[in-house]
Amino acid sequence: MTRAVRSAGVAAVLACVLAACSADPAPPAPTDGATASPSASADGTRQPTDDGAETDLVDGTSDPVEDSVYPRVGDPSVDALHYDLDLTWDRHRQRLRGVEVLDFRATTTGDSFQLDFGAPLRVVDATLDGLPVETEHDGKDLVVHAAVEADRTYTFALTYAGRPRPVRAPTTRSDFSTTGWTVTDSGSVWTMQEPYGAFTWYAVNDQPSDKALYDFTVHVDAPWVGITNGTLESREVVDGQTVTSFRLQEPASSYLITIAIGDYAVRHDETSGGTPVTYWALRSQRGAFADLSYGTEAIEWIEQRLGPYPFSSAGIVLTESTSGMETQTLVTLGDSDYIRSRPVIVHELVHQWYGDLVTPTDWKDVWMNEGMTTYLQLVYESEHGGTDLDEQMDQLWTYDATFRGQAGPPAAYDPQEFGAQNVYYCPALMWHQLRLKVGDETFWRLVQEWPRSEAFGNADREEWTSWWEAQTGLDLGDFFDAWLLGSTTPDRGL
Ligand SMILES: [Zn+2]
Repeated sequence: MTRAVRSAGVAAVLACVLAACSADPAPPAPTDGATASPSASADGTRQPTDDGAETDLVDGTSDPVEDSVYPRVGDPSVDALHYDLDLTWDRHRQRLRGVEVLDFRATTTGDSFQLDFGAPLRVVDATLDGLPVETEHDGKDLVVHAAVEADRTYTFALTYAGRPRPVRAPTTRSDFSTTGWTVTDSGSVWTMQEPYGAFTWYAVNDQPSDKALYDFTVHVDAPWVGITNGTLESREVVDGQTVTSFRLQEPASSYLITIAIGDYAVRHDETSGGTPVTYWALRSQRGAFADLSYGTEAIEWIEQRLGPYPFSSAGIVLTESTSGMETQTLVTLGDSDYIRSRPVIVHELVHQWYGDLVTPTDWKDVWMNEGMTTYLQLVYESEHGGTDLDEQMDQLWTYDATFRGQAGPPAAYDPQEFGAQNVYYCPALMWHQLRLKVGDETFWRLVQEWPRSEAFGNADREEWTSWWEAQTGLDLGDFFDAWLLGSTTPDRGL
């Protein structure tokens, strides 16, 4: 996620939130080897793909935990493997109908399991492995009364309907106060859902340690179109509705899922490394593609630092929000000059490595995402006519204590101050200090190696800091503790 600028003095230094060429309207048809996505059906069966292949559910296996910062969201008894979401949006009545098929692994044996599911949504029908099951929906908790055994895999099918509503976000930030499914005056839709909020539009284990694969199908009255993460598998108009299908080929945490629905135009591009890049903007957003198309060059700049782009596709969708978010393979940007700026586009794309490819196990470690991403953003700015990096770091030294005072240490922050300055700038300064300590060659080599060492997985502070110690041969325990857990600014000589 991007942060807004704190003050004019650090404006050049401190940026905040996020960031997406060919021609509308027809997307490329699936090529040889591409398959139609399996479609959800209400009886819990999965339709095979055209070539008979099934999604490899093993790729969605995780070790879910209970979140230490937001324990009321998510349930570690469920390991979601694959979500198949078939969504129909009635923009006039602002009503969503969903058919969801969730393949999951039970992690414990019991008489029930639980998912997060928005209170305004109503269950129409639910089955487990094709058999009807009783559900209890209290607030955002959906309890399914059915016996499950540890390490067995099940298929939960849910048909639901309702008018989704966003939920309050645990933050005092100025660029967002709610998360989840958000409807504009015109009936168009966008969502940002960090640290949670995916549950406002589907039943989900809404905690970052549980990564899963996704297939999406979205129906909306033409010429509007529904857009989600992943590769566009098909787009057609059926009975006056645009029907789009997307497949996310690499596992993602729920906060990295995005959907946008509206009167969108599309442009296609490709990086020099061959990654397809897709840009989506509302037809009303003037000049959008001129801004978004920088994403391709941004990826190429990042690849010089972090290695090849890690996913099958890339892109940016411009929405009517006021923030930016590193949603996996399809960055979600709000519509302001700042959010559409090049540094923000770089920031959100750096997250594809730091945050998306390797993701914090628990929200206490969101600094793992924002610290390195902010540092790389500042490096980018210094190389592209912005403030000199040393000068930026000098300014951060003067602000560090204030940021810790406002929201706590970066890795032990106030839960009601999610995404405050402390998780961006304090660890960015920490990484710069570590760079000075270990030297440029070692620093940049390890910055590139870490995301690949935990590719498609999760990690926590202990795993990451131990890895740096092992790789450098240095005792860095006091260093990391002081920077991440200290309530005061560490000594310069540490
Ligand atoms: Zn960010």
